[in-house]
Parts: sequence; structure tokens; C-alpha cells
Amino acid sequence: MLFRRLAEYFQQLESTTLRNKLTEILADLFKEAGKGEIGKLCYLLQGRVAPLYEAIEFGMGEKMVIRAIASGTGLETEAVLKIFKNKGDLGETVEEIKSAKSLPCRQAGVKRKAERKINIKEVYEILYKMAEAGGEGSQDGKIQYLGNLIKEVDPLSAKYIIKIAIAKLRLGFSDMTILDSLSWMIDGTKASRSQIEKAYNVRPDLGDISEVIKEKGIRGLGNITPEVGTPILMARAERMTSGRDIIEKIGKCAIEPKYDGFRVQVHFSKSKFNPPAGGPIYKKKDENLHLFKEDERFIRLFSRNLEDVTKMYPDIVEGAKKQIKAKEAILEGEAIAYNPKTGVYLPFQETVQRKRKYNISEKAKEVPLRLFAFDILYLDGQNLLPLSYVKRREILENTIGKGETILIAREEIVSTPKELEEIFEESVKQGLEGVMAKKLEGVYRAGARDFNWIKYKKSYASKLADTIDAVVMGYDLGQGKRTGFGIGGFLIGLYDPKKEKFVTVSKIGTGLTDEEWKQLKLRTKNQKLRTKPKNYEVDNMMECDVWVEPKIVVEIRADEITRSPVHTAGRVMKPSKSGSAYDVEVPGFALRFPRLERFRGDKKPQDATTVSEIQRMYGMQYG
Ligand code: AMP
Repeated sequence: MLFRRLAEYFQQLESTTLRNKLTEILADLFKEAGKGEIGKLCYLLQGRVAPLYEAIEFGMGEKMVIRAIASGTGLETEAVLKIFKNKGDLGETVEEIKSAKSLPCRQAGVKRKAERKINIKEVYEILYKMAEAGGEGSQDGKIQYLGNLIKEVDPLSAKYIIKIAIAKLRLGFSDMTILDSLSWMIDGTKASRSQIEKAYNVRPDLGDISEVIKEKGIRGLGNITPEVGTPILMARAERMTSGRDIIEKIGKCAIEPKYDGFRVQVHFSKSKFNPPAGGPIYKKKDENLHLFKEDERFIRLFSRNLEDVTKMYPDIVEGAKKQIKAKEAILEGEAIAYNPKTGVYLPFQETVQRKRKYNISEKAKEVPLRLFAFDILYLDGQNLLPLSYVKRREILENTIGKGETILIAREEIVSTPKELEEIFEESVKQGLEGVMAKKLEGVYRAGARDFNWIKYKKSYASKLADTIDAVVMGYDLGQGKRTGFGIGGFLIGLYDPKKEKFVTVSKIGTGLTDEEWKQLKLRTKNQKLRTKPKNYEVDNMMECDVWVEPKIVVEIRADEITRSPVHTAGRVMKPSKSGSAYDVEVPGFALRFPRLERFRGDKKPQDATTVSEIQRMYGMQYG
């Protein structure tokens, strides 16, 4: 398939916000793509060359891209800059120059040069090389690759190649829409979506999934099992507010402490890491990424939002090398910092200090981590996901050898509410967050939140509402004293996976310390947007002066969840009306007396509290 054809699809996709339309266009594109192409397409559609969890980025700023455009079109950088200032978008800038339409182009003598027909594989491979290039002199190399590519392609292709290189390709859909489209590609319905999603939860690599479907159909997905090096979407817990409710729901169960640290998924392979033959090239290149050559062990750590955090936690890597007794394994636990002198575990605020990019080894000595392993998902070729909690726990205990870094989470089996409450009280006294109750026959449901795991936290018991993780969507410029901070109030929201939109729950204007306002301003600095994103559903009354990328997650405490017509979380409008608060059929959820608890740099917007959770919490207040 020619890249030019893909560029036409990009154009079509950009022109609609309707999810069904997007799904259909994508399905057409997927039908047209061949084997060996569709996987690459899935990455390119997201402006990438590898799945989201791979830390492969282009790392090109505006200046570099402007130099590449200059080198690819023969214009001086100043001339490119001038057109860019006028257009405000580098993709449109290069399109304009390449089509040699505007006056400055004609004045600069730009002519349309002979263009070559380039297929997507070729473009992908060049983009891949750009993303992969690092180290000294890599900037020049990247500019050269991009410049040469721009030279050879048509204006429309150039536009999208530049948008990809500068990470500005925003087509307004997520992995979930791509899953729908893959189903649509098969039979023009969403009938296969849930089956595709099941496979995706175990292997969230759209490249792999789409290639399997193209080649073998839906049946091929049956063979998708965990793979060392590809993170598995983590199982999540439901919440309940008493020991009695928990026992009523799942009966005799295992109780583990709820450690307040961060979740880590450990991928381990003792043999040299052999990527599957013929897989996407990023997998072949991956060979040396985290291979510990001296003793031939591959170890990768993933956070709950599937970020590769291997380099951040060398102590866990060392512990895994020493303590995992297997050829290959994928296990999970909660990492928590402790004071090496007293052995006392530290609160979350201290643990989170370990999440850093610089001075890693010093900090590791000062604040070492321990990993409380609580699950195992894969062992030596065996997929453990369908096994019961009891069986997995037994395997986990046999897989972790003695050592200081990886400990097995404490566990007690209880069958009465009284026993459960006693353990809960004890955990809270020890400064833990609460407990996790686990259903004994429960399988590991990748990516799902269900009652196989139930969290019971002290905040529920003390009648204070649990905190809510929300996303900062925009802010108003400050008035009065706040003018100094340049921020007056900020709009927060949640991600609604059904609507594929961010919906609002509150605008917060008070309750922050001066330092917190400054922090907020600082964090939003590089996230500002020119216009409100397509996937924000905001009532007219809640418009903001400045919109920001949905990237900053904040933990919010509130007194109560109420219903409000001006917030869009869970709001239902009367059909075909204007979208203002006057046409509300069911009001949305909102927070009463919201206060900022902390910034949650460890969470992704998609990990924010969901609308259905808010709905449940709303129900609990009165239940
Ligand atoms: P929450 O972040 O409040 O939704 O609670 C779920 C989180 O608790 C998981 O993602 C883990 O990071 C953490 N956690 C702490 N201890 C455990 C445990 N024993 N089992 C499972 N998850 C745990």
C-alpha cells in the first residue's frame, strides 16, 4: 500500500469526530492493507512506530523539524519559519511548501520536484530508524532521514509524515476504536470486539493483534498468550465498605495487606531473549534493550500504566535476577520504599520519590525498595491467567527464592466477617491503606475490574469518601491574588471509555496552597492547547480560558458526590438539543467541596476514576 493512500485516509479520519464513522473508515483502511502492513499501520495511526508501552519516541522538537523541512524542500530555515508562523502547524507548512502554492514559496523559487511512489513499509522503516537513533550526532542523523523522506514524497504525504515526527498527529481515537474497527473489518459489525479485546488485554500490542486477525481470523486469537517483554493489562479491584459485604459477595477468601506503593509487573527471562521470527521489527531490535549480557537475563519492569520503568528501579532488577527461580516468568507486586536503617516502610509520598530519571543509583541506596509479590501470570511457557488464585499463589511461592528484595505478600484465609475486620483493623494500625480480599477460585482477568479482588480501605470505614483520581482539562486565568499565579481555577474530569471522551466533574478554585497553585501552573506549562480537544465534553458554563492536554492526574478529596446539570460525567442530554445545561435529561456527577490531595504522576489519564465508579460511589453514600 502506498503511503499516499494512507495520507488520504488520515485526511478522512481528521474530518470526522463521529466514532462510528471513524470505525468504518479504519475498517476500510484495514481491509485494504496487506499482511505485514496492517500491524505497522496500527502504530502509524497513533503517530508511532511501536506499541504505546514501548519507550520509543522521535524526540524531535520544532526547531529540528523546521531544519528537516528546509533541507527537504530547499528553502532557507527563515523562510520555513515565516510560513510556519502564519500557518501555526508544521504539517500544513510543509504541505504548502511542497505544493509550491504560496507567494513566499514562489519567491524562494520552490518548484514541485519529481516525487517517488513510496509504500508504507518504507516510510515506517525510515521513521523507525529516526526514532531509534540516539546518542551523539543523532540529531543531525534524524534531520537527514526526515529531510530526505520529505524530498521524495508528495505534499499530502509530507504533511502527515511531519505531523508524526513532531508527535502532533491527533486523530481523536484510542486503541479501543481500533479494536472495534478490526471487528468491523471482518463482518461489518462489532460482534467480535469482546473477543479481540480479551486478546488485547493479554497482549496490548495492536501490531501483533491485527496481524494475527489478518492472517488467521478471529480464531487465531485463541493462541495469544502472555509473552515476556509485552506487559499484560493489570487486573483491578472493586471496592466494598465492610467485611460483611465482602464475605457475602465472595465467601471464604484470602486477605492480603493493601500496600501503599506502586504496582510493578516484572518480566523475566533467563535464556537470551529471542523475539519471534518475522515479528514486527521493533521486536527484533529490542534484543539488546535490556539484556544483561553478563549473565544472560532479560528483565523488564512495567508500571500500572504500562510504562517501562526498568531503568528507574535497579534494585528490583537486581532482586529479580537473584530471586526468580524460573527460565521465564511474569509476576506482579507492589513496590514500597523502606528505611534501610530501621526497616520501617515509608508512606507513598516517600516511595514516589523513587520514580525518577536522574540520580537513580544514589536514591536507590537512600530509599531502597522492596517488592511484595502478590501474583504470577506466566511461568516457563505456561499461561497461568486461567488458574485459580490459590493455584497461582502456590506457584508464586515456589518461584521466588530467598532474598531481601522480593518478599511474598502476607496472606491469611478468612471465612467470617469478624476475622476479616480484625485483620483490617490491624493493617490500618500498622499504617497500611487497608486490605485486599481475593476470591479463592478467581482467575486473573487481565485489564478487568471485578469482584475477584476487592479493596477495603480505611477511608471508606471512616465515612470519608474515597479520593478520586481526575484529569486536569483546562484552567481560567487568575483574578485578584491569583493573578500572580496565572491560574484562577481549574477544570477536572474523568475519562469515559464508552463515549471515548473526557467528561467533567468539577471546577476547583479554592483550597490549594500557594505552592500547589505554582506547581499546577508549572505542570500545565508544556501542555497548553490552542483549542478545546475534540474528545472533551464540556458544558458551555464550564468553558476555560486555557485548555490543556489531558495528561495531569490529580487526586481529589471531596465531601460528597452530587448531581449537577453543568457537569458532563454521566450526564444524558435530551435528543438533538443544543448541548447546554438547559437540555439535560439526566444531570451529571459533580464533587462537593473538592480539594487537591496530591498530583499523581504515576497514573495515566485512562487510569482516572471511571464514571461507573463515581456512579457506584454516589450510590454508596446513601446505601
Ligand atoms: P487502587 O489504586 O486504590 O485502585 O487499588 C488497587 C491497587 O492496590 C493495585 O493496583 C495495587 O497497586 C495496589 N495493591 C496494594 N497491595 C495489593 C495487593 N496485596 N494485591 C493487589 N493489589 C495491591
